[in-house]
Amino acid sequence: MKPTVVIGGGVVGLFTAYFLQQQGEEVIVVDKGDMEENCSTGNAGMIVPSHIVPLASPGMISKGVSWMFSSKSPFYIQPRLDRRLIDWCLQFYRHSNAKHVQQSIPYLKGISLYSKQLYLDFVAEHGNEAIKLQDRGLLMLYKTKEGEKDEAALANLARESGLNAEILSKEDIGKLEPNQEVDVRGGVYFPDDAHLSPRDLYRLLKTHLQEQGVMLKSNVTITGVEKNGRKIKAVITEGGKIDCDHLMVCAGSWSGEVAKMLGFRLPMMGGKGYSFELPNTPELKQASILTEARVSQSPYGGKVRFGGTMEISNHVDMVNIRRVQGIFESIKAYYPEFKAEFPAQDSIWKGMRPCSPDGLPYIGKAPGWENVAFGAGHSMMGVSLAPATGKLLADLKIGKLGELKMDAFAVDRYARK
Ligand SMILES: Cc1cc2nc3c(=O)[nH]c(=O)nc-3n(C[C@H](O)[C@H](O)[C@H](O)COP(=O)(O)OP(=O)(O)OC[C@H]3O[C@@H](n4cnc5c(N)ncnc54)[C@H](O)[C@@H]3O)c2cc1C
Repeated sequence: MKPTVVIGGGVVGLFTAYFLQQQGEEVIVVDKGDMEENCSTGNAGMIVPSHIVPLASPGMISKGVSWMFSSKSPFYIQPRLDRRLIDWCLQFYRHSNAKHVQQSIPYLKGISLYSKQLYLDFVAEHGNEAIKLQDRGLLMLYKTKEGEKDEAALANLARESGLNAEILSKEDIGKLEPNQEVDVRGGVYFPDDAHLSPRDLYRLLKTHLQEQGVMLKSNVTITGVEKNGRKIKAVITEGGKIDCDHLMVCAGSWSGEVAKMLGFRLPMMGGKGYSFELPNTPELKQASILTEARVSQSPYGGKVRFGGTMEISNHVDMVNIRRVQGIFESIKAYYPEFKAEFPAQDSIWKGMRPCSPDGLPYIGKAPGWENVAFGAGHSMMGVSLAPATGKLLADLKIGKLGELKMDAFAVDRYARK
């Protein structure tokens, strides 16, 4: 029997390998990068069943346009004459409406709650010392009246969907953050969210997979495939080919290029974000999103990670320091007593979020192929949804169909149009 090849050793690819290996399969993970740094290592590590509204939603277009004119703003599209980008923007525009949000909610809620449970199972099996999962909720902080209105509407939507959400006053927030002033009007608390250390999770997954005999091949790019009818026989790399029985494509923001190799359309753009760690003084306790600034704050005892910005751009390696400045300035705006020093340039992390234009991931069989599946396009929720995606792909491979509603995640939803 030939192995299953997973293209992409980000968190989605590793969880896919994890569940495939658990069901006794031979697995090879191939990544064009070094498998030390990628989008899955320096993100905010939030597990967010509360995030039931996709990125493509009402208001995003007008907010996005106003943000385009500030160099420190949290959102930017690098204007360029690129058919793929124009196509993606048109699709994003078409999906930014209330109907799409309502249709997406049950799907996002279902997969998010499933994934959270899989994380709790993972911790029960592997212990919590390494990944530092803190199951203590997420706080959405707002400073303005408009922010209050937006977040209250999201809290109501969450409650109507059966999720827990509490609207907190500034005084309530003071109890969650007892060590310093939080300069806000109020916040919404989602008690069922959690956060973990993404880098430590990544390391643990790699070590565990290697111990279980999964081969991790870094610095190897898949450039093509060899086929026999509707089946992939091998993947082609610069160093030769790797025979495979099945192919799982978890190639993050590059998954559209792999789909092109396989002969179908999968709109995808990279949404670059930045993060940096600072000493946690005075200690922040509660994972939070500074909503007007679109900045995440994830505390890990002595350290805290701040992250943000969504730049739809081709420049994977460039750090736009003005946008990092925007993230940095938001710290004092929300936590005036926090001792923040601007991070050294080489300590600023960057990652490309894999963004589909409707804000929903692609999970399932690839159109036209009998032995290929995709798990990609999780945008701001790749860590959150990785265990569920990996489990669903492993189940799909052995023909096990669960109860989760999956059709909104169909890989061929744009290939059909
Ligand atoms: C600032 C920031 C904060 C974030 N915070 C959160 C958060 O709190 N919670 C959350 O859930 N998500 C968060 N995210 C999003 C999350 O990081 C991503 O959704 C997730 O890492 C995507 O994982 P992935 O495995 O799909 O892709 P990646 O991690 O990008 O992995 C894909 C891999 O595929 C490889 N690859 C691509 N093409 C090929 C090829 N042809 N051959 C071989 N290898 C290939 C790439 O080298 C890459 O390593 C955040 C992102 C950013 C930028």
